[in-house]
Amino acid sequence: MSEQYDVIVIGAGVTGLSAAWWLARDGLSVLVLDKGVVGAEASSRNGGGASHYQSPLFAEEQRLWPMMDDLLGYPTEHQAERVIIATNQHDFDHYNFIADICVGMGWPVDKIDGDTAREMVPIAGDNCLGGIHFRFGGHANPQRTVQAYAWALQDLGGRVIQHCPVTSIETAGGHVTGVTTPRGAFTCGSLVVAAGPQIAGLLAPLGIHVPLAAGRAEMIVTEPAPLMRLGGVDGNGLYGRQTMRGNLAFGGGPHEWIDTAPEGPRARPTTPLSRSLARRVAELFPRASHLNVIRSWAGVVENTPDGRPLLDRLDNLVIASMSGVGFGLSPASGHAIRDLVVDGACSFTDIGKLSLARFADLAPDWRETAGWLPLASA
Ligand SMILES: Cc1cc2nc3c(=O)[nH]c(=O)nc-3n(C[C@H](O)[C@H](O)[C@H](O)COP(=O)(O)OP(=O)(O)OC[C@H]3O[C@@H](n4cnc5c(N)ncnc54)[C@H](O)[C@@H]3O)c2cc1C
Repeated sequence: MSEQYDVIVIGAGVTGLSAAWWLARDGLSVLVLDKGVVGAEASSRNGGGASHYQSPLFAEEQRLWPMMDDLLGYPTEHQAERVIIATNQHDFDHYNFIADICVGMGWPVDKIDGDTAREMVPIAGDNCLGGIHFRFGGHANPQRTVQAYAWALQDLGGRVIQHCPVTSIETAGGHVTGVTTPRGAFTCGSLVVAAGPQIAGLLAPLGIHVPLAAGRAEMIVTEPAPLMRLGGVDGNGLYGRQTMRGNLAFGGGPHEWIDTAPEGPRARPTTPLSRSLARRVAELFPRASHLNVIRSWAGVVENTPDGRPLLDRLDNLVIASMSGVGFGLSPASGHAIRDLVVDGACSFTDIGKLSLARFADLAPDWRETAGWLPLASA
């Protein structure tokens, strides 16, 4: 006899765990399976940013983040607000353009001059021209957040099995019936596939084509700097945050992504990319340029062709890929997945733009067309 659950979730990243927690709050029996440990992949390796104002899930993300410590019962180290500072005129103009977009969407943003920026970010230097101050958004600690979701789920009776890869998804009569793992079969009423870049490979045998490209991104961590009022600072092609100990934890933008096989070896940092990140952190924060880099890591980012998350329900199967912004959106993505599983539709926003059907006419060579070539062939 295989164990039976109301819902099985493949993937113990922030998306799968948040969904599982939301579902367990409804009293459903929930099992989360992961091939590794909780948050082993992108979910514990990211920049912790939570300011994705373009997403239909953003208003719910913003509503929920300030409450998450209380709702989960464990700390996420969430801090509100964010600053983006410019060290050249091109970036300064671009950030002001972003500010205008945000204001047009109703999000409060201040345009700040160099002196104000240096007051808010004391490690910025004379090269700082100013920037913008989001009086919304924020950041949290990815490692603590992903574990908080898992503990909160378990407190509600949910189960997480680590080191338990799903090798196949079972179906009968067009419905998903369960999954097979090396530790046996598990059956379920509904299945949530939140397996990051591995979603495509898991669903291909069911004839479901999910266009995802995996990109490798890196982060570095410096020795601690004196604590700043706002820990979330972006600029110079970097995103990141100051940890509660004072360390600067920063990652780079798409220009440093390289393609990688989803089933390939674990992502590891490389000297050239880490060095480039360190140089740009020193340019952004000249008054902290003496700090040594003490840690670095890499992670694999899941990317859809249009950069938007994929959140859809096909019969009793829900597919959830967050396309590189899954950490910040996780309180809201879990809520949306709960709604899709339980009610069949998202209750708080229109997620029509996030459907799988939007890729129906995608050409098979979309990666090449977009210029997303493996490093070796670039
Ligand atoms: C360096 C870096 C910086 C980033 N910065 C930010 C940021 O600042 N803000 C932000 O919002 N996002 C950021 N992201 C993106 C964010 O981390 C991801 O969008 C998010 O973590 C995706 O979460 P997930 O749970 O959907 O997927 P994942 O974290 O990839 O989790 C998927 C899980 O599924 C498991 N799995 C896969 N296949 C199987 C299988 N067959 N059986 C069982 N388990 C399986 C994996 O082991 C993994 O634990 C960043 C990512 C990286 C790498």
